[in-house]
Amino acid sequence: MTKRIVALAGDGIGPEIMASGLDILAAAQELTKEIFEVVEHPFGGAAIDLTGKPLPETTLAACEEADAILLGAIGGPKWEKGPETPERGLLDLRKSLNLFANIRPVSVSEALRHLSPLKPEIIEGTDLVIVRELTSGIYFGEPRELGLEEAFDTNRYRKPEIVRIVKKAFEIAQSRDKRVTSVDKANVLATSKLWRATAEEVAKDYPDCTLEHQYVDSAAMKLIQAPASFDVIVTENLFGDILSDEASVLPGSLGVLPSASHSSGGPSLYEPIHGSAPDIAGKGIANPISMILSVALMLRQSFQENAAAQAIETACDTVLKKGIMTGDLGGTASTADFTQAVLSEMKGAN
Ligand code: ATP
Ligand code: MG
Repeated sequence: MTKRIVALAGDGIGPEIMASGLDILAAAQELTKEIFEVVEHPFGGAAIDLTGKPLPETTLAACEEADAILLGAIGGPKWEKGPETPERGLLDLRKSLNLFANIRPVSVSEALRHLSPLKPEIIEGTDLVIVRELTSGIYFGEPRELGLEEAFDTNRYRKPEIVRIVKKAFEIAQSRDKRVTSVDKANVLATSKLWRATAEEVAKDYPDCTLEHQYVDSAAMKLIQAPASFDVIVTENLFGDILSDEASVLPGSLGVLPSASHSSGGPSLYEPIHGSAPDIAGKGIANPISMILSVALMLRQSFQENAAAQAIETACDTVLKKGIMTGDLGGTASTADFTQAVLSEMKGAN
């Protein structure tokens, strides 16, 4: 069957790393049951230049009908002061697709261990996934008020919102080490007490997996002291925002981490965790790993193409072990050099 992929290259290094990701996807076709048909659409600053809007109707319509969406990166100094911003386009897209689950896998290749801010023996074996609730909690709760002498926000979770994100975490754990750590502040917060009780209930449907609970303060320490102890972490919006940024520095470069955002039933969105890197855009030196691994994540999570996903991840790792790396990792390879090396590795491995 044919699967429709919408590619939104976006701004800055977006188009450069998207080209790389799409080359890898084309090479992976030989390993997949599905046929992937890619259509590119303007998005972000590029779309503002073209149409005046960061998320043109045609782009949104294509995304809504897609089987999955790949996004490069958006934004840059050129659009910071305009009436329309690229970031608005991304917020609108996420909202329209109802992407409630943000997934960030963090693993550190042996070849990159020396770049981690943590000691090699501590970072060794780190391979975790953070599952963050993205559309509720204190970022959206009402009422909220900002006064001169007093201000408040509301943290609110409804049970079905907790159920669906915890389920997502267990589903991901089932294809991994089958261990879920639910992070909350249940010794203090009412929302966390409901969160914890709900996680316990959901866990009953996944008897092959284990569930443990950690307070967010303790989890923040453990991410630094023993990152390898985690498999899947699931948590609410605010805690997830903080913990996923904390986890993103473990590999020593932003250029190596992918992410996925899921809705219930609709298309998922896959993108690098970093921004558009305007400082290096157009130079052909961006690290494409975050995009390449986003393609692998898409193949695994949207299409259950585990063999193809694994082939991409293994090829990427082999290339790194050979010492072929872009500048952010201390190497001299260009975006194209690195991509070519991964393609050769994939062909060789077939
Ligand atoms: P945003 O505001 O969109 O989140 P940012 O301000 O956090 O972006 P990034 O665009 O993520 O910044 O870039 C942060 C730094 O990391 C920059 O110096 C950039 O060059 C570098 N960087 C980010 N992604 C990559 C990549 N794929 N390859 C090489 N360097 C990168
Ligand atoms: Mg930033």
